[in-house]
Amino acid sequence: MTGLVAAISGVYGLIIGSFLNVVIWRVPRHESLVAPRSHCPGCDAAIAPRDNIPVVSWLALRGRCRNCGEPISIRYPLIELLTAVLFAAVGARFHDSWALPAFLVLTAGLIAISAIDLEHFIIPNRIVYPVGIAGVILLAGAAALEHSWSPFGRALLGGVGAFVFFFVLHLVAPGGMGFGDVRLSAVLGLFLGWLGGMYVFGGLFLGFLLGAVIGSVLIAVGRRGRKQHIPFGPFLAAGTMIFVLFGEPIVSWWQGFGR
Ligand SMILES: [Zn+2]
Repeated sequence: MTGLVAAISGVYGLIIGSFLNVVIWRVPRHESLVAPRSHCPGCDAAIAPRDNIPVVSWLALRGRCRNCGEPISIRYPLIELLTAVLFAAVGARFHDSWALPAFLVLTAGLIAISAIDLEHFIIPNRIVYPVGIAGVILLAGAAALEHSWSPFGRALLGGVGAFVFFFVLHLVAPGGMGFGDVRLSAVLGLFLGWLGGMYVFGGLFLGFLLGAVIGSVLIAVGRRGRKQHIPFGPFLAAGTMIFVLFGEPIVSWWQGFGR
């Protein structure tokens, strides 16, 4: 059963990953997500459905536009593969939980947010808000179906707690963390809170630590100015996904100290 849910989730991931490529290109450029159809950025030719099959088309065309031969970035098939792999892992992790759809939405959202933040240094509200709202609705649905509301209560608490903590951090150290990071952390706290309070702490602390360490290295080697914001989004996303997927042994190890 676990394998089946993982496999189906992985196939969905390929298709969703293809859509995320559209999101990653268009959202920072304030373009519509539905129309027009995808065009080659080189020659503007519309991309035919047969050339739009995740990963396969890029390999078949050897990474070039069929019309003009312009190279197509390897980022496209990589995003599709990453989405498929993470969807399969989330499918395996939540194969017996009604929370699976919520965590697939989170995964897709975090891939898009990370790619956009790395390239443009923004965390678009156009992605954060829908993921947060979908999270509240889907987790409430999961709580109703599982006849257990305490995870949902923890989720709301996690969202509020993370927001307050990162908002204070943003106020006392305005150079480091943008307000986009604060909004994102509220959404991450919501999903991590569903799993438990220690997950909120662990996931966000790991993300913050990764961002602070790698950000300091980038400043030290001169790749990033001291006054510039560090794009914390991808690191908070990574810390969250690590705790969503692999947090269980870490959290139970921590709880062992309390006994
Ligand atoms: Zn072209």
